Amino acid sequence: MSSWNYSVFWNEAMNQAKAELGEHEFAMWFNIEYDSSTESSIVVRVPSSFYRDQLIRQYQKFLETKLYELTGKALALDFIVVKPSLSDSKNGDQPQFIADETARSPKREAKHSEREEVKKDRGRHHQLRQDYTFENFVIGDNNGFAANAALAISKNPGTSYNPFLIYGGVGLGKTHLMQSIGNRVWVESSKMKIICITAEEFTNEFIQSIHDKTTQNFKNKYRYVDVLLIDDIHFLQNKLGSQEELFHTFNALYDGNKQMVFTCDRPVSELKNLSDRLRSRFERGLNVDLQPPNFETRCAILKKKIEAGPITVPDDVIEIIAKNISTNVRDLEAALTKLVAYSELVHKNITLEVAQNQLKDVFSQSKHGNVTIDNILRVVADHYKLSYNDLKGKKRTKNIAFPRQIAMFIAREITEYSTTELGFEFGGRDHTTVMHACQKIDERLKLDPNLESSIQLLIRTIKEYSSKI
Ligand code: ADP
Ligand code: MG
Repeated sequence: MSSWNYSVFWNEAMNQAKAELGEHEFAMWFNIEYDSSTESSIVVRVPSSFYRDQLIRQYQKFLETKLYELTGKALALDFIVVKPSLSDSKNGDQPQFIADETARSPKREAKHSEREEVKKDRGRHHQLRQDYTFENFVIGDNNGFAANAALAISKNPGTSYNPFLIYGGVGLGKTHLMQSIGNRVWVESSKMKIICITAEEFTNEFIQSIHDKTTQNFKNKYRYVDVLLIDDIHFLQNKLGSQEELFHTFNALYDGNKQMVFTCDRPVSELKNLSDRLRSRFERGLNVDLQPPNFETRCAILKKKIEAGPITVPDDVIEIIAKNISTNVRDLEAALTKLVAYSELVHKNITLEVAQNQLKDVFSQSKHGNVTIDNILRVVADHYKLSYNDLKGKKRTKNIAFPRQIAMFIAREITEYSTTELGFEFGGRDHTTVMHACQKIDERLKLDPNLESSIQLLIRTIKEYSSKI
């Protein structure tokens, strides 16, 4: 009646089970035959309720996970007991286990609730981090738009903002936010199939499927999901085969109103070696960036992380961390983790003094990383005996244009800013101006052997200057 047929996946699951559990264990318990499929389940036959109960107890989770890995769907397993013959059933299903069997006297309802428990027990989605939830995500000016869009999407996946693409520098919460959508949908809509992977995993799996001649399984897996979350799509640059595959997956899901969420370390327009048609797909829907959090948000994030742990941290310590680490949230967290670990290991309370001592190096490193465009402009202007406003301004005379190009080139080298952001910082210019400047300097570097060392010197000076203020 139904057009669903998962028998191939079932057979493969059996092969893998045999390989993983060993012949002996497999032969003992896997007295199962494939019966039929529905859209969301596989029905198998077992020779007795005893086998059924043992399988549910010991292997149902294992088998459902296997099937999920193979099909990309959260398929349920349904058992039907087909007694081999009347004479067997007269003595119970398995004579040697009669006592046990009757003692438990399983009723249909009991089995049912056991199955429910197995499902609940599965708990979290195996590809999603449990702590990457909206509840744990602090919303500030830097991420409010993205977070609210993510919330809206998780309420009605696939209906608006499709695809949703979050971009921004490292450690700003892209993965956290994307997975929050997955976790929310996973909890609220148990029927929805979710896949969450990195673009690198997608690529590797695709290549493996070509090697194993299982590309059809690969396609099935990705084209029958309700929510597809792919992290770090900048990895797809230069990977033409994977781009092509994702393009077709994209179209299938888009046409089926299935939600897609991507993250990227830069605006899509700045990805290189990406096919135009995939680029235009990514740019459909909604693209939103994450910025570094401001001081208040950094404090709020630290407080949230502290709340979740066993240790109290005084406010002045929170503030000193938030003040000194402004580049990204990951570094902020790392500083806190270091402090908490120290306090646990030496059984000392965290005081301002302890924090200053323990985080000395982290703070100074972070200052180096904390180079601003303003600092670059000031140091470069000073070096070429120009004013800050000259560099930022509109004049295009040669004595200004070249240092300005140098400043843009350096900014591109040592900061996380995208060319679009840099254009904005450099007096509201277009990102193509920044790209052009970088190209020009690249060309000159090939011709002028001294330029490299001048640039290195400037970079050192900028870092020193930045760490002092
Ligand atoms: P990205 O993917 O942008 O590199 P992640 O999502 O991995 O960044 O975030 C880095 C760390 O910072 C994670 O541990 C994440 O939980 C935390 N984080 C980032 N933004 C926030 C936020 N707004 N609230 C709470 N934690 C955050
Ligand atoms: Mg990430």
